Amino acid sequence: MTDSRRRAEISGGGFAGLTAASALAQMGWSVRVHERAAELRAEGAGIVLWNNSLQVLDKIGATPDLQARSMTPPAYETRMNNVIQSQETLDGIRWRTMTRPHLHDTLLTAARESGVEIIANSEVTGATPDGTVTFADGSSAEADLVIGADGVSSAVRDSLGIPMKRERSRDGITRFLVPRRKAELQALEPDTEWDNVIDFWNLDPRVLRVLYTPANDEELYIALMSPSADADGSRVPIDLELWTSVFPQLAPVLQDAAGIQGRYYGYQTTRLEHWTDGHVAVIGDSAHAMCPALAQGAGTAMQNAWTLAVAATAALDAGEDLPAALREWERLERPYTDLAQDKSQWYADTREMAKGNQFTGDSVQTALYNPTDPNRHEVHAA
Ligand SMILES: Cc1cc2nc3c(=O)[nH]c(=O)nc-3n(C[C@H](O)[C@H](O)[C@H](O)COP(=O)(O)OP(=O)(O)OC[C@H]3O[C@@H](n4cnc5c(N)ncnc54)[C@H](O)[C@@H]3O)c2cc1C
Repeated sequence: MTDSRRRAEISGGGFAGLTAASALAQMGWSVRVHERAAELRAEGAGIVLWNNSLQVLDKIGATPDLQARSMTPPAYETRMNNVIQSQETLDGIRWRTMTRPHLHDTLLTAARESGVEIIANSEVTGATPDGTVTFADGSSAEADLVIGADGVSSAVRDSLGIPMKRERSRDGITRFLVPRRKAELQALEPDTEWDNVIDFWNLDPRVLRVLYTPANDEELYIALMSPSADADGSRVPIDLELWTSVFPQLAPVLQDAAGIQGRYYGYQTTRLEHWTDGHVAVIGDSAHAMCPALAQGAGTAMQNAWTLAVAATAALDAGEDLPAALREWERLERPYTDLAQDKSQWYADTREMAKGNQFTGDSVQTALYNPTDPNRHEVHAA
């Protein structure tokens, strides 16, 4: 028997692709996710999610799984030269810290339970506006909707020839997941609340920063930032002597990080002329990679995955033209992502986050956004 449901083919089994897959499958679509890698997994680092993506997780039924191994720290603390600049309790803002493998496993479970077909070792080479997707083994498939969720080097995006601007920033980060070692840290600095996220900045005489983020009771995410021009600061494995000389209070966890190879990521922002072409749409880093200042790359990927699924389903239910509906989806949703990209880029350029008290005004607009609220555009325009 042939499957008469609407078909979606998705390139990429990361946060964007799996979220779109679950949403569409739950809306009645037949969905396949193609992942180039042999295994579906996320790298060993941490991640912060805010209201915008947590609302999407509620909708796809993934929140109970996520909650089980994630946390909301008591405050986001910012320090300069180890002097506290601010301790923001973020009252009224929903946020959660976790490991990337945990978020990825949660999304993978949701996709499988929604009936999504997930194919590993399946490399997409491109797509055409009529909804054809092509694979490295020479085969192809037809779909009502093709989604490029294949990351910052997206084959789907590049095959469509969508003009793109790429901006590289001067700073970058190496990320680690290490044991919490709370008692050892407490012994070194008894007055510190080691459950807080603590953003340790040093700008003078040398730009080095450690973003300390508890991910759950056992695991700690630390991200070490330095300019790419600083060979010792950006070296992997890390230069333990350098980092412990600047951040002696973090010595036990830096020691653990030094035992991991690590990878230094230079910040980059990519902006496309358009996110859709015919029956194809791109989401996540494929469409809008951003600097990590606001911790919104995955968050905006997931919000756009959800709103895309809703818009495509509504258009086909109403018998409307899908390419026109996808263009309208971009017109309505893109400003929220543009804002997150612009603000993140500004923070990367100015390093203004070091001053603390950052969760106000434009900087929390994206975090507060609710992509699942049907009245969201009126609410945000008001
Ligand atoms: C240092 C740093 C810290 C960050 N911190 C945060 C944070 O706290 N919060 C947050 O929201 N975001 C954060 N981000 C951003 C976030 O990591 C990304 O925005 C997010 O991972 C993008 O998800 P994605 O699914 O679009 O892309 P990816 O995670 O890159 O997934 C793409 C997938 O597609 C697959 N693929 C690639 N090419 C093909 C192909 N041709 N065929 C088939 N499959 C393919 C890949 O193997 C991969 O599995 C951070 C980023 C960095 C660099």
